[in-house]
Amino acid sequence: MSVIGRIAKVAKPYSGSLFTGFAFVFISEILDTAVLTTLFAMLLALVTTAATNGGKVEIPFLSTAKGTQFQFLTDHVQPLLEQFFSSHNPAQVLIWLTIITACVVLTKFLFDVPGAYLMHKFANKVGMDLRQKLFAHLLRLSPTYFEKESTGAHMSRITGDVGALQACMGPQLADVLRAVLTIPIALTMMLLVDWKLTLIALTLAPIIGGIMALGGRLIRKYSIRIQERLGDFNASLVERLGNVRVIQSFVREPHENKQMDTFNQRYYREILRAALVTETIAPGSETIAIIGMLGGVIVGGLAVMNGHVPAAQFIQFLFLAQKVGTKFKMLSRANQLRQQVNGLGERIFGLLDVQPDIEDLPQAQALPRAEGHIKFDHVSFTYRTGEEVLSDINLTVQPGEVIALVGPSGSGKTTLVNLLPRFYDPTAGVITIEGRDIRQVTLASLREQVGIVPQETVLFSGSIYDNILYGKLDASEDEVRDAASAANALEFIERLPEGFQTVVGERGARLSGGQRQRVAIARALLKNPRILILDEATSALDTESEHLVQQALETLMKNRTTFVIAHRLSTIQNASRIVVLENGKISEIGTHTELLGQGGIYRKLHQMQFRDSVDSQETQPMPEVL
Ligand code: ADP
Repeated sequence: MSVIGRIAKVAKPYSGSLFTGFAFVFISEILDTAVLTTLFAMLLALVTTAATNGGKVEIPFLSTAKGTQFQFLTDHVQPLLEQFFSSHNPAQVLIWLTIITACVVLTKFLFDVPGAYLMHKFANKVGMDLRQKLFAHLLRLSPTYFEKESTGAHMSRITGDVGALQACMGPQLADVLRAVLTIPIALTMMLLVDWKLTLIALTLAPIIGGIMALGGRLIRKYSIRIQERLGDFNASLVERLGNVRVIQSFVREPHENKQMDTFNQRYYREILRAALVTETIAPGSETIAIIGMLGGVIVGGLAVMNGHVPAAQFIQFLFLAQKVGTKFKMLSRANQLRQQVNGLGERIFGLLDVQPDIEDLPQAQALPRAEGHIKFDHVSFTYRTGEEVLSDINLTVQPGEVIALVGPSGSGKTTLVNLLPRFYDPTAGVITIEGRDIRQVTLASLREQVGIVPQETVLFSGSIYDNILYGKLDASEDEVRDAASAANALEFIERLPEGFQTVVGERGARLSGGQRQRVAIARALLKNPRILILDEATSALDTESEHLVQQALETLMKNRTTFVIAHRLSTIQNASRIVVLENGKISEIGTHTELLGQGGIYRKLHQMQFRDSVDSQETQPMPEVL
């Protein structure tokens, strides 16, 4: 389906606003092009010729309507008007005409306002819909996708591209509709007023068509480039704003300013290029149209001078010609607009078309509440670009077991646990929960049962209460309180001036590391998952916090099957089994005592730990590198 077709599909529910708005615009345009030009021509002719022709009012267009579809005007309207004009003196006629003109202008205003408003409404509804669709779609995509595309680039599409598209569909679209409507109306009237003059005036029209086509193609190219540059700019901006502290600590402000300036300059240059094209093509079309019209003016002007054509008729011709000229400018914008919409639409639908690589299978069923039997059966995994990160992992875990994963940095511990909630799917082998292949169950039912407490706790910017409630949206106040209490968080929360309603700041920045962790643990407790993934923090907290966090974690682990990426000796010693990973392979499995007895890597690791921290085994992180 074409881009415009797809936009039309999104816009369909809002077509009511579009068509009603369009109807108002249509009426306003008829009043403008047909009625007002006639009235103004009559007024001007009356004023300029009253002294010389004894106050006779000329009625343009009516005399030439004879023998056309507009004959009824000549037959019925003209006699009425002539009778009216002859029974009043020119000054009275002037006043009457002015009053009528003012009424028409006011009526036009009454159609303009709802017309424009409805067009705005239409454009904004479509924009709102697209933004929501894009957001919802992004939430369906897996981490693999987000590794390729930056947050800034997405922001740019959701706000920038949609915003630009929206701008094309509101008043700009109304202008185009006006042009599309006005040109035929005005041309018909011009032909009626004086067909010969009109044909002369239109000799240059084909040139305008050519220019418009060329301009449209250029605009499409530029509008895509503009959005790409804006995407680059936003991506860099978001990244730098997220790392302000690093920039400041390295005193790299001048460096970063320079980098951002480069992106800013590129964006600016593309906009200026596009502006040059737009501002050449549209006024160019207008200029050529007006030059063409001037041909008609010479011939028509001479005819008026020689008394062959009434002045009012010629004045109206001029008004109409000027209108057509202006509308040609809008029409050339219409083509640019179409191309721009195509370019923006391609980018927006390009994102909507990205297929999630992890999705529910059509026949997927909900995973019933799990006991916690988990099996990794010959599981291997390779990231899209790299070498094999996990090789032939075989591991069977019983309900309630705590599995401590240890091994050097990069050995695949995080990757292994990420396979459980299906952030990635194994490249070979099968993972089962309660004997069911996790690829065969619905993602929602699987993820509902897997709780994750990451190393770096990330909270939302709302209140502590809302952050805990995130674990179970329909939880009661008591449940939230109990969870906070079980996570050793109640005491510090109650000491805060606003208690549970304290706003934690972006990503929880206003809380200490240990507090953030306990809020995250409360959140996980409320979720009450059967399977738990814990990534222990490597950076040691102060002793008291550490103790509180450890206690909270122990509460959290109770009665669940837990995988813990363990850095602390205490966690490792208390685990049901320890899995030692090395280069993506399981090199040892067993309890602390068993593995020490084996005298393998684990023993070496333990000895290093023991030697380094005789007194503080509880809190010292395990060395990452063996
Ligand atoms: P650990 O948690 O044991 O430190 P990881 O599972 O994070 O190890 O990483 C295992 C290997 O996979 C490393 O070599 C790492 O560079 C690589 N890796 C991790 N994440 C990605 C990714 N998203 N894309 C490509 N390679 C990755």
